[in-house]
Amino acid sequence: MMRCWVEISRERLAANFQAIRKAVGESVAVMPVVKADAYRHGAAEVAAVLTAEGAEWLAVSSVDEGLHLRRHGVAARVLIMGGVLPWERPLLKEFELTPAIHDLADIGAIGDIPYHLKVDSGMGRLGVRATPREIVEAVAAHPATLEGLMTHFASSADFSSPQTDLQVETFEAVREALSAGGHSPRYVHMASTNPVMLPRRHTWQNMVRPGIAVYGYWTPGKEAPRPLLEVKPVLAWKASIVLVKEIERGSPLGYGAMYWAQRDMRIAVLGIGYADGLPHKLSNRGRILAGGRPAPILGAVSMDLTTIDITHAPHLKAGDTVTIIGSDGDAQQDARHLARAAGTITYAVLCGISSRVKRVYV
Ligand SMILES: *Cc1c(COP(=O)(O)O)cnc(C)c1O
Repeated sequence: MMRCWVEISRERLAANFQAIRKAVGESVAVMPVVKADAYRHGAAEVAAVLTAEGAEWLAVSSVDEGLHLRRHGVAARVLIMGGVLPWERPLLKEFELTPAIHDLADIGAIGDIPYHLKVDSGMGRLGVRATPREIVEAVAAHPATLEGLMTHFASSADFSSPQTDLQVETFEAVREALSAGGHSPRYVHMASTNPVMLPRRHTWQNMVRPGIAVYGYWTPGKEAPRPLLEVKPVLAWKASIVLVKEIERGSPLGYGAMYWAQRDMRIAVLGIGYADGLPHKLSNRGRILAGGRPAPILGAVSMDLTTIDITHAPHLKAGDTVTIIGSDGDAQQDARHLARAAGTITYAVLCGISSRVKRVYV
């Protein structure tokens, strides 16, 4: 028991990874994304589980995140997707990290190491935005090995938009030009979670890069088909009740008196706040599971404390556990529900869980 903690299920993590592997088949390698501390599930622990399950590649955003994996004994190949800063380049070779290259001028700067070239096929963020011919010339001009060719989609859950198809077309033009020039990278990858879950099979090529699906989530999209497989949330989020008390009708609660008791009520003050990552936007909006039922958040979420209505559960007392993500009796709530209530996205709720929150692996 702690004041605020998350429970991470190694079994569910392994099951999600294997379900994805099975769904894409043996000819497609699965490179799980463990950036942002594995979406706050703990990169070192998650990497240990996934590599034991057979993951040969892991993807992170930064060189720092790659070094973190190496320091924790992760021997798998590691792709740095989010750009390598000039002063970080010597670390690539030293720690056997593989960069995604986003600028043709960088091919000559990284030295003789294998690299993945990222094409900006229309997302307008990272990746090379050059003509197929310029790309072929730059690849041919350097001895470094083009090991992978990749792109990333901006709107892959949205089946009412032509953007993904247009991106595939742009990407294929680069790939064909490279192939005509005698360059056939070993790995070709485009798909993150959504094109795997809402299958866009032609984007799978021979590698996929699922992140959030590994942790049990995906994004339902516009006019999207049914998800290809079932994944389950890996993380449960709990907190302890610090104080229970009765308050009278008409009492103001918390900062700014954002809530006034509509009736006599029993409240619980919880050991969780926005410093733990509970979105402040859940003030007066969100719910927390207590005593087997959703209990409304009353007033402002404060830095270290949050107040809920537990009039329905008179047996609850200080030291009892409430559930932010997970299940309590018949009641269930996941990061997607919290995100909807807070007006944000599932990714941001998970990544927002702060370092103060203890992690327990079960
Ligand atoms: C984060 C990221 C992914 C994984 O995205 P999910 O939606 O979590 O599956 C894949 N590729 C790139 C380039 C990314 O930045």
